[in-house]
Amino acid sequence: MAYKMLINGKLVDGAKTLDVFNPATGGVLAVCPRADQAQLNEAVAAAKAAFPAWSALSFGERRKKLDAIADALEARATEFARLLTQEQGKPIAQATGEVMGAVAGMRYFAAAEVETSIIRETERERILEQRTPLGVVGAIMPWNFPVLLMVMKTGPALITGNTIVAKPAPTTPLTSLLFAEMVADMLPPGVLNIIVDANDLGAVMTKHKDIAKVSFTGPTVTGKKVMESVASSLKRLTLELGGNDAAIVLGDVDVKAVAPKIFDAAMSNAGQICLATKRVYAHSSIYEELCGELARLADEAVVDDGLKQGTAIGPLQNKMQYEKVKGFLEDARANGKVIAGGGALEREGYFIAPTIVRDIPDSARLVREEQFGPVLPVLSFEDVDDAIARANDTDYGLGGSVWTGDVERGVAVASKVQSGTVWVNKWLDMPFDVPFRGAKQSGIGGENGQEGIEEYTQARIINVAL
Ligand code: NAD
Repeated sequence: MAYKMLINGKLVDGAKTLDVFNPATGGVLAVCPRADQAQLNEAVAAAKAAFPAWSALSFGERRKKLDAIADALEARATEFARLLTQEQGKPIAQATGEVMGAVAGMRYFAAAEVETSIIRETERERILEQRTPLGVVGAIMPWNFPVLLMVMKTGPALITGNTIVAKPAPTTPLTSLLFAEMVADMLPPGVLNIIVDANDLGAVMTKHKDIAKVSFTGPTVTGKKVMESVASSLKRLTLELGGNDAAIVLGDVDVKAVAPKIFDAAMSNAGQICLATKRVYAHSSIYEELCGELARLADEAVVDDGLKQGTAIGPLQNKMQYEKVKGFLEDARANGKVIAGGGALEREGYFIAPTIVRDIPDSARLVREEQFGPVLPVLSFEDVDDAIARANDTDYGLGGSVWTGDVERGVAVASKVQSGTVWVNKWLDMPFDVPFRGAKQSGIGGENGQEGIEEYTQARIINVAL
């Protein structure tokens, strides 16, 4: 298909083009349009022009449009999932899960409403809090969940009456452009604009005088640049950033039962999930058995093109990430004992064998930094307070998990983990009505839940003497 960007209700070519690669082959999957700065300005101007009419609609009127988008996405889920696997690499079952998650997300946001609340009403005064939309939102997305994140940003922004310019990561623009084609006739011109760049327009968006809020998901290092850049205009800002989530595994677990769950938490989407388990702290009494089970699961996992039935782990999404993860493998070999995997597959594409590393010190790069790949360090502890202290010894604070046979003990341990979300005996359960936000350097603000939706609004207090 001929991919087009969406600017002011029209599907348009780019001033330039961009090659998009299939990470399973390393070959070019498609050539797509890419915007220059003038097209970005056009998109922002269109969003600004569309704002008065869109924000004047009722929630009910906007809801109908968002529900229709959810229905359209569901009707084309197979097409989206296939394209997602081709451009992103994840196995088709995971891609389908992402698309269906996006459908559910759009339905959740469509149903949302932000009502005026009465803070106080007495004989002498009435104090109201109204919530108004902000204006044009700039949405900047990473390459690990392009469909889901498109919905997690457009859904709350649109239902609350904002208009948007959305920009996917340059290595995964195709599903966003398919989304553009799908919604082009479903929304008034300018309400949602979707452009593509080559990592050159994100910084321009964050500085743009007509963008009122930036919603950014990506690595912490870029998030800091975004925060610096919006400072000059004090734009509203949501940052969903990186993580180095620890799984703390207590000595009372049934190792055979929890190992596959921990393995999935580390290896889904080839480890390229902000909330993936990136380090494991296991009690010494079960350390040997857990290492053995994780290594067995790694050896058995089918690593292949995500379009093939039965693939459990696909390629890394792009060459740069592939090279980065190979660097972590070197560190793992130098500092720890590799008990499964340990290298890239000898084939085309960006495949890395799922790797389990034991007997590695806390000071190793693989433990301290976010690997964002299928390479998992497993460390041992004697005392749970020591494990918690080591889990917290990081600038990140996105997620984490505790695995135990005793739920109350699990909650007690989870309550000491300095993170935005901590799961007990589960992982990555993220209902849209539950707020999601990072602690420490994993983010500012948050998404989902009523609080996440309200981040797309400004409070106005009306304080009346009666
Ligand atoms: P990336 O840096 O390649 O891209 C992220 C986005 O930022 C892209 O759209 C890119 O074009 C844009 N960008 C690049 N430079 C910019 C600048 N100076 N100003 C504004 N925008 C700029 O990131 P990635 O490698 O795709 O993302 C992976 C990271 O994202 C990981 O650290 C992961 O943990 C994190 N992440 C976090 C969440 C979350 O919700 N907390 C979700 C997914 C991913």
